Amino acid sequence: MRIPFIAGNWKMNTTAAEAERLVLEMLEKLDSISGAEKVVCPPFVSLVAINMMLQGSSIRLGAQNMYFESKGAYTGEVSPLMLKELCEFVILGHSERRWYFGETDEIVNKKVKAALANNLKPILCVGERLEENEAGKTEEVVSRQLRGALNGMEPVPDFVIAYEPIWAIGTGKAASGKQATATIQFIRDVVAKLWNESMAQDTRILYGGSVTSANIAEFISYAEIDGALVGGASLKAEEFVSIVEQTAEIKGRKK
Ligand code: PEP
Repeated sequence: MRIPFIAGNWKMNTTAAEAERLVLEMLEKLDSISGAEKVVCPPFVSLVAINMMLQGSSIRLGAQNMYFESKGAYTGEVSPLMLKELCEFVILGHSERRWYFGETDEIVNKKVKAALANNLKPILCVGERLEENEAGKTEEVVSRQLRGALNGMEPVPDFVIAYEPIWAIGTGKAASGKQATATIQFIRDVVAKLWNESMAQDTRILYGGSVTSANIAEFISYAEIDGALVGGASLKAEEFVSIVEQTAEIKGRKK
């Protein structure tokens, strides 16, 4: 049984004060929702404060990135050793990291391994660009990203992958539930080939790309889609709470 999973990726938004206000706004309602795992991923500079604010609550904390080395002369980087004191999850391989900061599958692979070695749980992002989608290359791209990111790894229990078509991120043009579920099914098949069927069934696979409270139900109604990675809509307390509420309710009905 895969527990539904909703993570908010705040990206490079919110000052420290704004981040605390946002958490305060959603804390009580979000905390009271059972039936879905709830994760917020604020900017690095807010992790310490938000870690304290979330103590004793059911809301989990994640980072948006990390470097793969534990420490050393890597000016400006943040290591898994630093993160593991503060949070449980880390988003890795986000398309904005790949696109703006040149992260390759090889780098993502090193990061995934380093996270796991430090007991951090990766949320591994994969997804194709618009041209690739239009050229019918979605499966080829996603398969390459998965094989690259998971290269040389033993099966990981309770792993989390987010399928985020790049053309749907921040554009207001979400994929359809049908499109997303087809690729997510394909991702599960690739994981089954790389690991095994039972580990693939254990892996939670999320959809990400312009998810809002108005369209979450469409995604979550598919049994294959275990939740969502939410960008823009996670910056509004009411929106994010509603996305989590709907997810818990719809998935709960299907048990
Ligand atoms: C994201 O950045 O992971 C994302 C899905 O963004 P948005 O929801 O804003 O499209």
